[in-house]
Amino acid sequence: MPWVYIEAAGDAPVAVGLEVLTKARALGDPTVVYVGPASESAFATLGEFGASKVFHIEPPADALAAAQVAATLEGLVDAHSPDVLLVGMTYDARDVAGRLSARTGATVLSNAVDVSLDGGVSAVNEVFGGTKLVTTSVSGPGTPIVLVRAKSFAAEPSGGGAPNVESVSLVDAGHAGSATVTASHEQQAEGPQLEDAAVVVAGGRGLGKEESFALVEELADALGAATGATRAIVDAGWVPYAKQVGQTGKTVKPDVYIAAGISGAMQHVVGMKDSGTIIAINKDPDAPIFSISDLGVVGDVSKVLPQLIEALNNR
Ligand SMILES: Cc1cc2nc3c(=O)[nH]c(=O)nc-3n(C[C@H](O)[C@H](O)[C@H](O)COP(=O)(O)OP(=O)(O)OC[C@H]3O[C@@H](n4cnc5c(N)ncnc54)[C@H](O)[C@@H]3O)c2cc1C
Repeated sequence: MPWVYIEAAGDAPVAVGLEVLTKARALGDPTVVYVGPASESAFATLGEFGASKVFHIEPPADALAAAQVAATLEGLVDAHSPDVLLVGMTYDARDVAGRLSARTGATVLSNAVDVSLDGGVSAVNEVFGGTKLVTTSVSGPGTPIVLVRAKSFAAEPSGGGAPNVESVSLVDAGHAGSATVTASHEQQAEGPQLEDAAVVVAGGRGLGKEESFALVEELADALGAATGATRAIVDAGWVPYAKQVGQTGKTVKPDVYIAAGISGAMQHVVGMKDSGTIIAINKDPDAPIFSISDLGVVGDVSKVLPQLIEALNNR
């Protein structure tokens, strides 16, 4: 029986959690461990996506609760011995999974893009920029933990009814669980969100300077798109980390991905290669990005982008 660990984003299950729950339905009758504020609509959503049973853990709002949540999960998996604990990869969930693995001694596999329970737990990982797939079978004690990358599966409701919800008290983790959150800052976001947008316009170091990211923003405005970036320009401080696409940033899967002044390093490509149509603008005809592009423009972004923007605005 597969279990799925899902945390709340506000009052609703986080998107990657519903993607993983959709996959879990194909592996058996999934049970969900939901961490967040009690919410009838969140429980209903979990039921709608296939959870018949939900264990609900509600940490205090100001707790940095990974240690307590991991301790609570340890009790649950010990009592029920699920075949696998699937975890949608978020920063907080990674923290919980690592702590749980340390407590139970169970194997944790991260960055998975697929998982199977045929003849034991195995998970698929992409290596070399997604050009090779590696399947790893898990052995060892306890319930294996598999962290699944966002966008590995499409979230699809199953039409299920309300789940049976059981509240589980948070276990005290002692000193490890004593940290609290004293302030949090939510980044203001306008326009379509990077993870959900149908069209993404992303910029890289080929833009030349910070001010030129305005061209990426103007093109995105004209297309109703979200903006993304490579790590090179995030590290340079041109744009916030929230825009980074790639191995250590976000995974996106829009219908159209426009890469402007991006070389196509594998660490970037793993975060966008599954986009529907990839359009690259790069002055170097040998840039690796062209090898995964459906459409390529060999040219200077400072000339191509303004012309594209003008043509779109004149439509
Ligand atoms: C552990 C690790 C994790 C990483 N994670 C990420 C990640 O999550 N995301 C990520 O993006 N990177 C990541 N990187 C960095 C990655 O390896 C690359 O360094 C980075 O993606 C390069 O960014 P870039 O394409 O903007 O810059 P560059 O590689 O410098 O490419 C710039 C491109 O612009 C072109 N160009 C230059 N001038 C123009 C012009 N006027 N017009 C048109 N084209 C022009 C050049 O031909 C070149 O192809 C990671 C690296 C490591 C080691």
